[in-house]
Parts: sequence; C-alpha cells; structure tokens
Amino acid sequence: MGSKALERFLTENLNDLKSKGLYNEINTVIGANGPIIEVNGKRLINLSSNNYLGLANNERMIEASIKATEKYGVGAGAVRTINGTLDIHDQLEETLAKFKHTEAVITFQSGFNCNMGAISAVMNKNDAILSDSLNHASIIDGCRLSGSKVIRFEHADMDELRKKAKEARDSGQYEKIMVITDGVFSMDGDIAPLPEMVKIADEFDLITYVDDAHASGVLGENGSGSATHHNLVGKIDFQIGTLSKAIGVVGGYVAGTRDLIDWLKVRARPFLFSTSMTPGAAAACIEAINILSESTELVDRLWENGRYLKKGLQELGFDIGHSETPITPCIIGDADKAQEFSRELFNEGVYAKSIVFPTVPLGTARVRNMPTAAHTKQMLDDSLEIYAKVGKKLGIIK
Ligand SMILES: *Cc1c(COP(=O)(O)O)cnc(C)c1O
Repeated sequence: MGSKALERFLTENLNDLKSKGLYNEINTVIGANGPIIEVNGKRLINLSSNNYLGLANNERMIEASIKATEKYGVGAGAVRTINGTLDIHDQLEETLAKFKHTEAVITFQSGFNCNMGAISAVMNKNDAILSDSLNHASIIDGCRLSGSKVIRFEHADMDELRKKAKEARDSGQYEKIMVITDGVFSMDGDIAPLPEMVKIADEFDLITYVDDAHASGVLGENGSGSATHHNLVGKIDFQIGTLSKAIGVVGGYVAGTRDLIDWLKVRARPFLFSTSMTPGAAAACIEAINILSESTELVDRLWENGRYLKKGLQELGFDIGHSETPITPCIIGDADKAQEFSRELFNEGVYAKSIVFPTVPLGTARVRNMPTAAHTKQMLDDSLEIYAKVGKKLGIIK
C-alpha cells in the first residue's frame, strides 16, 4: 500500500491528460531504428527519428564500438574526475575539438546533461540569461538550475533581444549576461539568426551559448554546425553539440576555449558526479566524426531528401511552417486531430509522431517529419502518397 495522496495525484492527472488527448502513448520499436522500423507488428517508413545521417546503424561505427568494448570493457568504471577518463574519452574530445575548430571540448553522457552542467557552472544568481522563447526543455531547466534571472525574448526576434539586452545591461543589476538559443529549432526546423545575435552580444558584452543539438551533423562545413554555417568560427563562447542525434550514438559536448573547458571540467556537476560515457559509445562517436570529415556524402543526401519531402508536402497543400532544414512539420493545430492524423498515417504505413502541448505551444499541434540520409527516394514517394490519402480523408488538405 503506497501513499494515498500520490495515488490520487496520479489518477487525477493521468485521466486529465487522457481526456484532453495530451497523453503520449509510447511505441516500442522491434529491432533497430533505421529508415524502416517495426512497431506493433507493422513495417513502417520511419519519419520520426533524429538519426539524420543513418549513423545509428553504420557498419564502421558498430565495428569501432565492438572493438573498443573488447579492449576497454562495457563500462568506464568511474566518473571522469576520479578515474573514469579513459584514453578513448580524451581521443573523442580531441577529435571533436579539431572538427569544431575550437581549442578544446568537454563531453557529457547526454546533451541534456550537458545543458544541466554547463550553464550553471558559469552562471549564478548575480547574473541574467536572455533565452529564446522556443528553447529546448534542457536549456530551460539548465537556466533554472543556475539561479540566474531568466529573461525570455520572443522567438528569433533580434529587435526584442537588443532591447532586453540593453535594459539588462543598463540596469547595472547583473555581473554577467548570457544569451542562449538553439542553433536549429527542433519543432519548426528554423535556423537561429546567429550573425545578428553575435553582433548584439558584442555590443552588450553578452556570453553566447548556442545549442547545436539539431545542427550537429546537419549544418555547416561537413556538418560541423552553426559556427561554420554562419561563418562565426571563434565568435561563439559555448558551442553545444549532441552525439545522440545525427551522430547516431549518445552524448553531448561543449566546444570552446581551453580556459572554458578547464573550468567546466572542475565545475560541471554531471561531469563530476555521473559516470562517463561507455568506451563503446566514445569509439563509435570518434568513427562518426571521421566519417563526416572524410566526405560530405551523407550530409548532402540528408539535405536532398529533406528538400524533396518538403516540396512534396507543400505541393500537397500541407502547412509546413517556416522550416529551413530537413526537419519538416505538418502543422495541424488541434491536438486530437494531430493525433488522429498520426494514427491514420501509421495504419497506412508511415511512422510520423504527433507532437502536442507542452512540447509545442497550445494550438500548434503537429506531425513532425524527419527525413534522413538513409531514406530512399521510393520511401519518400510512398510516404507522400500516404500523406495525400490521409490528408484528404481527414479534410486537412483538399
Ligand atoms: C535533443 C536535444 C538535447 C538533448 O540531447 P540528448 O543528447 O538527447 O540528451 C539538448 N538540446 C536540444 C536543443 C535538443 O534538441
């Protein structure tokens, strides 16, 4: 017999979510997460993974991971600061620093952990953080954890950012001020206006923090992210990347100056108090960066597939918002309708998950499509045919 108060809390809130169509049922994928997946006994075209380049199933990376596991074992054995820093972790950080054109890199067990650790290692209650209103949950939580004053600005609105940066600076209340943004926004696929943001940062001495979770492996020279894409190498203080999305494995990192990384290695709490990434994962990540450095083939194919799917959906009459990257939402509005749309797509052979409040603002429920380099043209054509059929059936398109 557990707590009655807990039981009441859970029953009431679960029922509330379910009655509003906001309860997310988790689907289990049987086997690997590739361009075709099996769910509930059905084979489906997968338009919902973050496996942008297909690297989660890459042979070279699998091989590297097996070899490292044989050499080092399955676990690192300790946190990084005790004796869980193996030579393979150092190698990964050196490989990433070279790829990112920065002095140094610190890796974390996930991108979420990275934001939990990195923001609060530098920012505190005497500081302020200017935060884009559509920033990822891990950024929001990382900001809260720091105890800094969080000042939201309207999504990508650089006039408002300048105004609020000036107010914060003129108030004289804050020691440090940071501006923080996603490099690519995961729900709309738009790109943050970083050149303008860096200008504002110069003007008001803001620390710049860019989370490239959805830009890593996608944007810029060989997929190296926002800095190379916008020609801002050396101009962003914190470049966050994930190893969990396009890189296909798991982990997160900060790329920056040697001093910044040295500081994070003694102050970022998930680095100090949580066991380091497995050797197999580290080896797979190194191989992924090698693959990206050798050729742009996968990144090129991702963009080609992204453009193809986008054009197709737009021609069918779907509202794809203002995406500038392969991430392609079909904005439906109503949460129930978006979920029904996703269910119908599933029945017809496409896995494209609906995304509802609180992941996106109320009234902007959507089905989000993530084409990858691993999709064939045939898979995309089949998807478009299914979208046309289901869209007409539900009255979303004519
Ligand atoms: C997914 C995501 C993260 C979390 O990354 P994980 O490595 O999956 O923990 C952090 N920031 C942004 C912007 C993300 O989209």
